[in-house]
Amino acid sequence: MTIATVTELICNGCKSQLNGLVTDSVFVCDSCGQVVQIEKGKVQNFKLSYMQGKTEHQGRLLYLPFWMIPVETKMVDSDDNRLDLSMMNIPGVVYISAFYETNTNYLGNPGRDLTDIESVFELKNWTSESGKITGGARSLNNALKYARLMIIDIIDRKHDVTDSLITITPGVPKYVASPFVFDAEKFSITSTITGKTYSASIVESIHQILSEHKLTT
Ligand SMILES: [Zn+2]
Repeated sequence: MTIATVTELICNGCKSQLNGLVTDSVFVCDSCGQVVQIEKGKVQNFKLSYMQGKTEHQGRLLYLPFWMIPVETKMVDSDDNRLDLSMMNIPGVVYISAFYETNTNYLGNPGRDLTDIESVFELKNWTSESGKITGGARSLNNALKYARLMIIDIIDRKHDVTDSLITITPGVPKYVASPFVFDAEKFSITSTITGKTYSASIVESIHQILSEHKLTT
């Protein structure tokens, strides 16, 4: 006998049904734009914002989800001296993809590229006219670990971090939809914010995402 457990996910804002991939832990309500994270039975809500593309583009837009996490970084060396990081251009906001990426060392890391351009982006709130955005496999807790690694990596390029204690205090995170142009022929995605192009296979769940966006591959 097979025992099936069926859990129906309901938006706690408007009571619509939430749809997502089986691997998702973050869901976006298509009806009201609420972002709902369900992790270990615990439900958390986040704000959904849309980043504005900068570059001119042609082709079909595809929105990919990122965690936008404001961070405050402190660094103390082995002699307990607090180091002044103000000259090091440490980003105050980190972008971590909410989708699982594959092979970022080889294929590039769009979250890192968004973080590196060190701009304050214009954000728009969700409306019913906003493009469709998928849920995410990566929970906020997991994204925070990557945010920390990213900051340490950025500092390490400018300063030896051996034996230093780096503390990262996150602010209020947002779940942001970032625009990319999908090129079916080249199977690539290009950020309309950074202008960088990646193989679409960088996004582990790209085929499901494309079918959700009703883009053919
Ligand atoms: Zn809702």
